[in-house]
Amino acid sequence: MPKSEKLEFQTEVSQLLKLMINSVYSEKEVFIRELVSNASDACDKLRYLSNTKEKLLKDDPNFSVSINIDKKSNLISISDNGVGMNKKDLISNLGTIARSGTAHFLKELSESKTKDLSLIGQFGVGFYSAFMVASQTKVITRKAGENKIWIWASDGESNFTIEENEDLDLLPSNRGTTIELTLTKEAKEYLEKSRIESIIRKYSDHISIPIFITDGSEKKDEKPESVNSASAIWTRPKNKITEEQYKEFYNHVGQMFDDPWMTSHYKAEGKIEYTVLNFIPSSKPFDLYEPARENRLKLYVKRVFITDNCPELVPPYLRFIRGVIDSEDLPLNISREMLQNNPVVAKIRSSLVKRTLSDLKKKLSKDRKSYESFWLNFGPVLKEGIYEDFEKKESLLEISLFKNSKSKELISLDEYIEGMDKKQKDIYFMTGDSYENILNNPSLEGYKSRDINVLVLDDPVDSFWTSSTPLYKEKSFKSVTKGLDDLDSFDGKKEKDEKKENKSIDPLVVLLKEQLKDKVKDVRISSRLTDSAVCLVGDDNAMDPQLEKILQQHNQLNQELSLKILEINSDHKLIKKLAKMCTKKDEIIKISKIATMLYEQSKILDGEKPTDPALFSKSIIDTIYLSLD
Ligand code: ADP
Repeated sequence: MPKSEKLEFQTEVSQLLKLMINSVYSEKEVFIRELVSNASDACDKLRYLSNTKEKLLKDDPNFSVSINIDKKSNLISISDNGVGMNKKDLISNLGTIARSGTAHFLKELSESKTKDLSLIGQFGVGFYSAFMVASQTKVITRKAGENKIWIWASDGESNFTIEENEDLDLLPSNRGTTIELTLTKEAKEYLEKSRIESIIRKYSDHISIPIFITDGSEKKDEKPESVNSASAIWTRPKNKITEEQYKEFYNHVGQMFDDPWMTSHYKAEGKIEYTVLNFIPSSKPFDLYEPARENRLKLYVKRVFITDNCPELVPPYLRFIRGVIDSEDLPLNISREMLQNNPVVAKIRSSLVKRTLSDLKKKLSKDRKSYESFWLNFGPVLKEGIYEDFEKKESLLEISLFKNSKSKELISLDEYIEGMDKKQKDIYFMTGDSYENILNNPSLEGYKSRDINVLVLDDPVDSFWTSSTPLYKEKSFKSVTKGLDDLDSFDGKKEKDEKKENKSIDPLVVLLKEQLKDKVKDVRISSRLTDSAVCLVGDDNAMDPQLEKILQQHNQLNQELSLKILEINSDHKLIKKLAKMCTKKDEIIKISKIATMLYEQSKILDGEKPTDPALFSKSIIDTIYLSLD
């Protein structure tokens, strides 16, 4: 009697299984898609390994997936002659080691109202979908090149068993995996061969190895026929592929279950040859902002899968692209290390970037609405390229869209420039943590009143690229919250002179400087303000204030936050009154209290907390009280 070992599922897996078992989700058929997809991946992996270890394929060189239905015993099994698993693989892949997608999937489900379980494959936990239809799941497997057969079994409760087995006849091949499901009463429909055939055609036609189905009704000498087309879809001519087939392949290869937003299928012929079948999703993948910023492209060489982990293939700022690159020039036995400085890979990468950016540019000019939906999903990722890819900076800026202070529509830089007044030399922008906060910031007042458009940059990435991008089409980028504004140059001579000659304000400026000397770098009269009394702006030589804030939040700032400059509006009634009060000695104490309040409220408008909220609120109450006398 073989010894069986009992192991506990990791807590998250347990939760996931409970969800699967109790699901009332109607499209349970996706379990076939997931298990067939795993079977095909296992064959891809072994094909790759056999490039250097030919022995692994001996006696059984043709890959396939076989589905067997046993109505009497209520079983359906999915077998492959792929790479197989040993005990260690079983434990880590199917139960105990946290897979990054598990938690994400659970979170997504708890947040979504629809409980769309079909999304499961996207999170890399597709195997567990078996538990939607099975009361008992067995994984019988033998790793290619190893002798032992292992059986993993579970009813989806909190634990699973693993046992070694000597019976080599348990598997149809000398390697690979059989997933055997004992179907629940409600899942009897999956014992019908025609039902399974239609599911395969619906989801798995693109799988490049043949899929066979048997249920015992076949005649003895009947040659089995594969249910799917079993050829790599990207090798077929475009006009022979339907949109539905593209979508199905995208769902499989990209582990995404939306429609592709853009499909790009072409063969590059020249010094190097390769075929590309790429997709841009129409929704955000859950792991888009994981720190590793890995891409999900699959590299093939002459139809043989090599790796889905090739950072050199595409820059991180295009990591949302899904699909396949199939090269004719790389050697089949190329190792992952050899891919690192490979000139062919480098060439593919640069052509791929060029092609993608030019496709996006076309889409921007031809179908603006649709491009905007792409931009909302991936704009912030694409903008990482503006400071990471010096060569493509200009092309990326050209296809970037921006919120702005003048309209609710997104605009391009070219459109911004077109709308510039003759006197305006620079591209004005303001960074911040939200559109509303930026729009309400007093620093914008002077620009709004002079009808000057300002780009409203509310993505964290904006603070980075604006700090390293001096020019676009010879126009400089200029932050409206930094340095001296040049708004005077937009005004007539008379207005300018009036402001400059406003000597009556000078004593107030001196007083405020003295009062706030530890809090601000300077106090000066502003041209940016029209409605508010004061605002804070950054020093010209200081870092972008928003960038400072982000770096500080991530403990990456090696210095104190730099002191800002307090600008005051000499036309504001409060400032005028304070200036008058400055001339009276006994009013000075009052002004010093007001100075602190002005400073604190300008901090709030700048998106920060007051230095001492309790003191600040006490001062407000005192002031209100006094005003009621
Ligand atoms: P994913 O396939 O997205 O990684 P799954 O939950 O479907 O997530 O599978 C988990 C892991 O189990 C796979 O990554 C793979 O390593 C292993 N696995 C599943 N099915 C098979 C199979 N038929 N043959 C070999 N390994 C498999």
